[in-house]
Amino acid sequence: EAHKTPTRIQFYESSMSSRMTERLLLENDLHDALANQELFLEYQPQLDLQTGQVKSVEALVRWKHPKKGWISPGVFIPIAEESGLIIPIGQWVLETACKQVKRWEGAGLPPIKVAVNLSLGQLFQQNLVGMIHNVLEKTQLEPQYLQLEITESMTINIDHMTTILHQLKALGITIAVDDFGTGYSSLSYLKDFPIDCLKIDRSFVQKIQSSSTDKALVDTILSVAKHLQLKVVAEGIEEIEQLSYLITSNCDTVQGFLFSKPIHPNILQENYQTLHEN
Ligand code: C2E
Ligand code: CA
Ligand code: CA
Ligand code: CA
Repeated sequence: EAHKTPTRIQFYESSMSSRMTERLLLENDLHDALANQELFLEYQPQLDLQTGQVKSVEALVRWKHPKKGWISPGVFIPIAEESGLIIPIGQWVLETACKQVKRWEGAGLPPIKVAVNLSLGQLFQQNLVGMIHNVLEKTQLEPQYLQLEITESMTINIDHMTTILHQLKALGITIAVDDFGTGYSSLSYLKDFPIDCLKIDRSFVQKIQSSSTDKALVDTILSVAKHLQLKVVAEGIEEIEQLSYLITSNCDTVQGFLFSKPIHPNILQENYQTLHEN
C-alpha cells in the first residue's frame, strides 16, 4: 500500500515524457515525409442534392510512416502547424489537389471542384496569395474549381483575414468556413468576409435525430446561409435519417461515410466511369 502513490507518480511522469519523446520523434520524421513521398491525398466525394451528382470533393492528407504505418492527420497536422512544416506540406497538398483535378478532367470526368483545407500558419505565411496564384498557373487549373476551407478559429486577426480573403477571391477561387458553429467567433464576420459556403460541423449533423438543440442549430445555419446567399455543405452524414432531414431542409450538398469515405483518386475515377457507363 505504501508504495502505491510513488509508483503512480512515476508511471505518470514516464508516460508524460514518453509522449513528448514520441511527438519529437514524429516531428523529426515529418521533416522527411515530403521528400520521402510518404504523404498522399485522399478525396471525399460531396453529393450535390439537387442533381444527385458528385460535383466536388474534399482533399484530405494522409501520412504513411515507414515504421509506424498510417498516422492520422488529427495527429500530424497539429505537429506540422507547431513546427512550421505546415507551409511546405500545405503547398504540396494544394499543388497535388489541383493537379489531380486536371488529371480527372483529362480522363474525361465531368468538372470537379476540389476543396483544400487551409491552416492558420498558412494564413500568416509570406505571400500565401502569390503561392496559390503560382500553383494555379503551373497546374493550369481554372480557379473556380478550387475552394479553400478556413475555420472560425483562424479569425484571430479580422483585418488580416479580410485582406487575404479578398485577394483570394480576386484570384477567382471560393472560400468555405469549415466546422461552422463550433467556434466562438461572432457571426458578424460573415458580412465582412467574402465567403461562399458554410460547412455544418458533423457534431451537429450527427445529433439531428437525438437532440432538438442540434436540430435547431442545423436549421439556423441553413437559414442564415439562405439569407446571406451562401452554399451549405453538411458534413459527417452517416445515417439515412440525417440525409432525409437535410434533403427536406433544402441543404445544397452532403459529405459523409453514408455516401463515401475519403478514397484514392483512382478509385474515385473508376467509380465515376462505371457510374456513367451504366
Ligand atoms: P476536417 O477538415 O473537418 O475533415 C473532415 C474529417 O471528417 C476527415 O477526417 C474525414 O475523414 C472525416 N469524415 C468525413 N465524413 C465522416 C463521417 O461521416 N463520419 C465521421 N466520423 N467522420 C467523417 P480526417 O481525414 O481524419 O481529417 C481530420 C482533420 O485533419 C480534418 O478535419 C482537417 O482539420 C485536418 N486535415 C486533413 N487534411 C488536411 C490538409 O490537407 N490540410 C490541413 N491543413 N488540414 C487537414
Ligand atoms: Ca475540412
Ligand atoms: Ca470539417
Ligand atoms: Ca474538423
